[in-house]
Amino acid sequence: MKEIYNTLSQLQVVLAQMFEVEDKIKEIPKELADQEDALHKTKITYLELHEKIEKVKEELKTLRIKLDEAGNKRETSEKMMETITQAREFETLQKEIETAKEDEQKFRKGLIAKQNYLEEQEKKLFAQEAVMQNQEEEVREAKEAMDKQIEEKQKELDEIVAKKNELAKDLDPNLLFKFERIIRNKGGKGIVAVHNIVCTGCHMILPAQFVNEVRASTNNESDEDSILFCPYCSRVLYYEDSTDYADLEEKHLAAEEKDDTADIIGGDSSGFDTEGIDFDSDSDF
Ligand SMILES: [Zn+2]
Repeated sequence: MKEIYNTLSQLQVVLAQMFEVEDKIKEIPKELADQEDALHKTKITYLELHEKIEKVKEELKTLRIKLDEAGNKRETSEKMMETITQAREFETLQKEIETAKEDEQKFRKGLIAKQNYLEEQEKKLFAQEAVMQNQEEEVREAKEAMDKQIEEKQKELDEIVAKKNELAKDLDPNLLFKFERIIRNKGGKGIVAVHNIVCTGCHMILPAQFVNEVRASTNNESDEDSILFCPYCSRVLYYEDSTDYADLEEKHLAAEEKDDTADIIGGDSSGFDTEGIDFDSDSDF
């Protein structure tokens, strides 16, 4: 087998590892983002509660002033009571005293209710503060863990990339770029064998003439320009002898059933003239 197929086979393992580690590194900050989001929400609730409490305190102040005013009014009226002589004045004062007393009672009731409400809200604020502190601690720890995790993964990635660069050092950059994308899109499998006339990557039947070309390319020690790609799944193909004819028969049957849907599965299926098909086409991924 040509050296290039060996290189690509090794490279696909390294590339699959690289993508896996890269994805993991990308996932790490997401976990922290969730925790930060939770903390942010807690902070908002805390601030809203705090604001509410300040408002209640203001209302309490106003109520106390009103209570004092009603008390003063009653006391003044009560003092005046001692000096009056006429019955009409007495009635008026009596009424004022009654009203002031009612106000006092009303304000006192309001004060007690509001005071209870304030205590309730302060308890909530206290609890919210504890939640907030816990979450802050969690975020801090998660951040530390994240930094450590990223550092470790980055080290791992650096080693993989070094391996990749070593393997790919003699490779055409365009081929490498294309191969990376195939690996990325085809679940880590970028180079597959042709058995008989079947691509073992996507199990599609390939045109006989095209298989001949793959076979020639596999046995040929020439440069990487002769590398051929599956017209259906875009993977790099090499030819491998296989005596699995039972398997092939099965594929034939499957392919007949698939015939109607070939257009949907594998792009251009009109005629199998390999000269006319651009196997370098990127339309597949
Ligand atoms: Zn294929």
